[in-house]
Amino acid sequence: MHELSLMESVIAIVCETARQHGATRVKSVRLDVGVLSHADPDALLFCYQAVRHGTIAQAATLEINRVPGKGWCLDCAKTVALAERFGGCPDCGRHRVQMTAGDELKIRDMEVI
Ligand SMILES: [Zn+2]
Repeated sequence: MHELSLMESVIAIVCETARQHGATRVKSVRLDVGVLSHADPDALLFCYQAVRHGTIAQAATLEINRVPGKGWCLDCAKTVALAERFGGCPDCGRHRVQMTAGDELKIRDMEVI
């Protein structure tokens, strides 16, 4: 269950950032989570509720923005949609596609009081 450690890091960054800005409470957090990342959104939400307890982000809502997978096909020399990690190019069917999006897990923004 690596979602737990991921969310512990997210909460730590969120609380630290809020404090640096003199905020007393965090209202909401938005995360970008790529569809090709190994993080499960339901597990992330579940873990989030556990780790935010007792922090200044205790009441903060979490919104997960799913980022679609994209890759650069070396044969077509263009960006193509990527449905799976190391998946083939939907146009030429070859597997020389480098993943360029869909693997991220990052804090997009947050709202503080
Ligand atoms: Zn291609």
